[in-house]
Amino acid sequence: MAPTGRLIVVSNRLPVTVRRQRTGIGLSESSGGLASGLKSYLDRHPGIWVGWPGIAADLLTAGQRQQVAERLSARDCRPVFLSRRLVTDFYLGFANRALWPLAHYFTQYPVYSQSQWQAYQQGNELFSEAALGEAAQDDVIWVHDYHLMLVPEMLRRERPKQRIGFFLHIPFPDFEVFRQLPWRSEILAGLLGADVIGFHTESDRRHFADCLERLLGLTVSKNRVAVSGRWVTLGVYPMSIDWRRFADAGGLPAVRRQIANLRRQLGERRLVLSLDRLDYSKGIPRRLEAYGRFLKSHREWHGKVTLVAVTVPSRQEVGEYESLRRTVAERVGEINGQFSTLGWVPIWYLHRSVPFELLCALYRLAEVALVTPLRDGMNLVAKEYVASQSDGQGVLILSETAGAAVELDRALIVNPFDLDQVAATLATALDMPLAERQERNAAMQAHLAEATVETWAASFLADLDRT
Ligand code: UDP
Repeated sequence: MAPTGRLIVVSNRLPVTVRRQRTGIGLSESSGGLASGLKSYLDRHPGIWVGWPGIAADLLTAGQRQQVAERLSARDCRPVFLSRRLVTDFYLGFANRALWPLAHYFTQYPVYSQSQWQAYQQGNELFSEAALGEAAQDDVIWVHDYHLMLVPEMLRRERPKQRIGFFLHIPFPDFEVFRQLPWRSEILAGLLGADVIGFHTESDRRHFADCLERLLGLTVSKNRVAVSGRWVTLGVYPMSIDWRRFADAGGLPAVRRQIANLRRQLGERRLVLSLDRLDYSKGIPRRLEAYGRFLKSHREWHGKVTLVAVTVPSRQEVGEYESLRRTVAERVGEINGQFSTLGWVPIWYLHRSVPFELLCALYRLAEVALVTPLRDGMNLVAKEYVASQSDGQGVLILSETAGAAVELDRALIVNPFDLDQVAATLATALDMPLAERQERNAAMQAHLAEATVETWAASFLADLDRT
């Protein structure tokens, strides 16, 4: 059911990114699941998107900022301009150096800095003000993700009667981990400004409810909690993908050309795919090590298999990401150095983003996808891979610690820390009879065809509408 007023989506990034070009301002589509997923919903429902256009405001002149606002307005987007200092301290700082590692259980990584916390509050104020500037009383405001956890409370202070939703796209960690955060109570209180708080999985919801009870002394009953005379609902809405876009992509001439080209390069070799943003939560060095163990113990596959490892550059300004880039490059070099022959290189490594046509070709041709994050809120790559198997051939190997494992339970589920198990499972996947592959894919595809990103948004908004 669609909400009665307009929908005001508030997220850190807009579905379009602004770049400076020699000729002026350029707009390009933002990558990632949230942008493409919600965009397909907003294309069909009236609404507006409030977010950061991806470039620091100090890098633009007043005239260029005006130009950005006008061009975005034509696409129903409203920019929140962040200074270079806020990009550094709010976005790269508190959001990505404190909240992100904590939520992914990297408990040694978080940097807790008072000035970054202040920047986080200031950044959240800017988004909140921009949303209030757009929203009429009967509009619905839907705030997204860990960058904006204080926004619901900021909105609620100004608009006691507004319908406000919040969805968290990353894991909500266990109480023993979350309690590390010096501003844990403020973050919880910030979220409680919403009427509905959505999570990908039941575990995330349970962890959050546990934190409310143990840190704020609240009582959660039947997934609801009373706060200042209002009810706040805690819901589970596993995010999904634009299923048709991936299921039908094999018919596109550009994708077919890419498939033919890749097939020529590979010859008879079987393709195993590893594809993620370059992030420590994705477990890429361990995955490579597991592949190395597979090559060591399965010599019969030498020369017959190629791992295509794609890492999409991400948050390069944050130190951990730069050292991860070096580690991954070294690990690839070690394995290729140890096992290559004159006619065979076991890993093709691409450190860049790939266009949609190549992405779809890789999904289609890969006989196995190794999706082994150490911790992941959902993992849309796993869902896109399954959706792309129109012939039902591909085998998905998936971490038990990815949110997607709850729904994609016919994948080969592994513990990403157990490298011998991952190596053995890769051998099992490569040997799996076609009938079993098809049967597993059919079951998962039937689910994905029903649970699309459209139904995800609609079910969250229907719950919000009921409040
Ligand atoms: N993706 C992309 N550019 C690329 C490769 C992949 O935008 O070069 C997309 C991919 O199709 C998927 C998203 O990035 O929709 C990654 O989402 P996921 O949930 O797997 O991980 P996240 O990066 O959000 O942690």
